[in-house]
Amino acid sequence: MKIGVLALQGAFAEHMAVLRRLHVDTLPVRLPHQLSGLDGLIIPGGESTSISRLMREYKLMEEIKAGSANGMAVFGTCAGMILLARDISDSDAEPLGLMDIKVRRNAFGRQVDSFETELAIPALGEKPFPAVFIRAPVIEQINGSVEPLARLDNTCVVARQGKLLACAFHPELTDDLRLHRYFLDIAAGSQ
Ligand code: GLN
Repeated sequence: MKIGVLALQGAFAEHMAVLRRLHVDTLPVRLPHQLSGLDGLIIPGGESTSISRLMREYKLMEEIKAGSANGMAVFGTCAGMILLARDISDSDAEPLGLMDIKVRRNAFGRQVDSFETELAIPALGEKPFPAVFIRAPVIEQINGSVEPLARLDNTCVVARQGKLLACAFHPELTDDLRLHRYFLDIAAGSQ
């Protein structure tokens, strides 16, 4: 099992640290050829407009789409979730458009820029997940075969569609490794 982490901007080092803790072979992805042979790719949180610009500059957009079409699992967290979406309501960032969701950036407003909450994610078991939201987006609309996995105040914040997983918060900033483990199961085809 080999999982790449898109390492253009944002919290990529933290995701790689989690993967190492889970004894998974991992590498930072900056160039298109580094995507070959990956079972999965994590797109980290950060600034979606910067990551999208750099993805285009480094010619990664088409390769990531092709990898996904060939069965590579993709996990987008926070800004990474924005980039997975088919539609962003208020941004000129160009998303990958892989997942049938519409997202809204900075959805929690300025007053509550960042917060941590115990989030129920039934797919991970009974224990709630310590979810760290930082200028987080939400999923405004889910379409097609997208499965909502968690809601906060009735708004979807974790979703899955086949081998695509998206969450609005930063799972790499806590010691709870269950969401990464869940993604590894998706990538391995056992979830
Ligand atoms: N607000 C950021 C954006 O719109 C996302 C924040 C994050 O990834 N923590 O890209």
